Amino acid sequence: MRLLVTGGAGFIGSALVRQVVRETGAPLLNLDKLTYAGDLDAVAEVAGHPAYRFAQVDLADTEAVRAAVESFAPTAIVHLAAETHVDRSIDDPAAFIQSNIVGTFNLLEAAHAYWRALPDDQRAAFRLLHVSTDEVYGALGAEGAFAEDSPYQPNSPYSASKAAADHLVRAWHHTYGLPTLITNCSNNFGPYQYPEKLIPLMIRAALAGQPLPVYGQGRQVRDWLYVEDHVRALLTVLERGKPGETYVVGGRNERPNIEVVEAICDLLDELLPDASHAPHRRLISFVPDRPGHDQRYAIDPSKLMDELGWRPREGFQSGLLKTVRWYLEHPEWGHGALAAGRLGLGWARSGRAGA
Ligand code: NAD
Repeated sequence: MRLLVTGGAGFIGSALVRQVVRETGAPLLNLDKLTYAGDLDAVAEVAGHPAYRFAQVDLADTEAVRAAVESFAPTAIVHLAAETHVDRSIDDPAAFIQSNIVGTFNLLEAAHAYWRALPDDQRAAFRLLHVSTDEVYGALGAEGAFAEDSPYQPNSPYSASKAAADHLVRAWHHTYGLPTLITNCSNNFGPYQYPEKLIPLMIRAALAGQPLPVYGQGRQVRDWLYVEDHVRALLTVLERGKPGETYVVGGRNERPNIEVVEAICDLLDELLPDASHAPHRRLISFVPDRPGHDQRYAIDPSKLMDELGWRPREGFQSGLLKTVRWYLEHPEWGHGALAAGRLGLGWARSGRAGA
């Protein structure tokens, strides 16, 4: 395996890079623009490994993407690079169009040209896995769950840009035969997440004794997956998934946002019994809802489980305990971003947090 990972300096991409280099030692090229959300500290533990290489490349740069693919000669590409924060997409959608749509198009073109010229056996074995989100399916009511045949109904500029990318990937398979796969995953949590996302934001604010701003009444439901389980799902799909297919990924961990925040508070009470802010639940404050906020996401991962044999190893509570412990042990993580005021809360700068 020679793996080209885009977005490997981000939250999920870095977890993939760390796991692959640590466990396989296979040659790996991490291609990342290093936007505000990319941080090479997240891959520092593998930076000195002989199998690991990094290239700072913007996917919007057609020629640089082509050159990186040709010169590294991957057997597989896992495409995670994207602008990912819904609040930022409401503020400034242009970057989402460039990175998520034009960037995916450039990667597909580069991969297609490279793949077409491969010998037959290598062409048959090549894979391009596009990592997407369940948000492309829009919002659910109180019942049901997203599956591979759910209709696309993206509601935010972020999810619309991811949906567009999914359609391009699908079309490059159907039109040109490029062996692509798509995964649509629910909300991830775990170490090294950029501090604008719900769980790290709440942990950090709670540690500082600051208010924990929850949108609306916190009744929006998300389906949570520990990031290392997502990485194992990606590697399973890469290895055993059928080209042209989509797999939805989730851990059957539905929680209203308010319960997530309460669970964080309770863990902090347990882990830091002497904290002056305990009980941490009293820091929770409700703020006006995000425009167009999707009410509920849930995933039915039966296809991935039944056909490919994937199972998550962490439940919500065990994953959250690992996560909270990690942020307690790494107080320096995200400090630079916070100090520089680089949190994506712009559409109403009042300290809101969403997932
Ligand atoms: P992230 O924001 O933490 O990291 C994104 C990475 O992509 C960063 O390192 C950034 O520098 C890089 N990047 C952005 N634009 C780029 C460009 N034009 N060229 C090259 N690199 C660029 O994101 P994440 O949370 O790790 O998400 C990774 C992928 O997984 C995304 O495609 C996202 O849509 C998808 N996803 C995320 C979640 C989640 O809960 N975080 C859930 C489902 C799917």
